[in-house]
Amino acid sequence: MELDFFIIWPFFPLVFIFGLIFGSFLNCLIWRLYKGDTIWGRSYCPWCGHKIHWYDNIPVISFLLLKRRCRFCKKKISWQYPLVELLTAIFFLLSFRFNALSGFSVVKLLFDLTLISLLIIVFVFDWRWFLIPVQTLIFGALILLALNLFLGFSVGQLFLAMLIGAGFFALQYLITRGRGLGEGDIWLGGFLGLAFPDIGHLITLFFLTYIIGGLTSIILMSLGLKKMGSKLPLGIFLTISALICLFWAENLINWYLGLIL
Ligand SMILES: [Zn+2]
Repeated sequence: MELDFFIIWPFFPLVFIFGLIFGSFLNCLIWRLYKGDTIWGRSYCPWCGHKIHWYDNIPVISFLLLKRRCRFCKKKISWQYPLVELLTAIFFLLSFRFNALSGFSVVKLLFDLTLISLLIIVFVFDWRWFLIPVQTLIFGALILLALNLFLGFSVGQLFLAMLIGAGFFALQYLITRGRGLGEGDIWLGGFLGLAFPDIGHLITLFFLTYIIGGLTSIILMSLGLKKMGSKLPLGIFLTISALICLFWAENLINWYLGLIL
């Protein structure tokens, strides 16, 4: 069923607000996964442990009203909080839009929202702590595997893509003897294989990762913010590329083929 743009646009603010609230939940989840806390219970300040009132927990708005500080201990609140909320909202909205315009599928929407959430969790973990949350990835991979089977991909195709994804980074890990990337990146490669079973899309994703990573290195080095040979976490470029390829892999492939043909 193809929906007209004019029918779906009134839902955009609702989806965006849902994304903001879900992003707020992801922030809370990321901290609890990192600390090994239980997932349930009221939000608390990571510095002083004080419980956060509901009116101090409104996505983005509370961050601005509190002027980046905890109401109780006055310690600075990380930019991670509004950034994750906004990113989640923007990508949830994109997913809803693309889905609605290409024949609405609940399974595909669930798949997209799950993948976006997992990519944002991995992004923050690698950015802040140079870690890949492997247990979370495995748990998420099982959900994506089930949804991809529903979407019509065969077990063989999913398995092959997972092998290519993990193998690509395992090979680099062996060649560089673990200096260029970590074990977590091999897990992330396998996970991305499962998430992008179309091999063309997977190769585009890896290609884009090295372009974004390379450009970022050059920019940081020319600004004197990074020394030659110092490490940048690969996971952040992989997740950024995956978020782009989720919606625009086909466009990127066509654009690239147009350039070389
Ligand atoms: Zn505090």
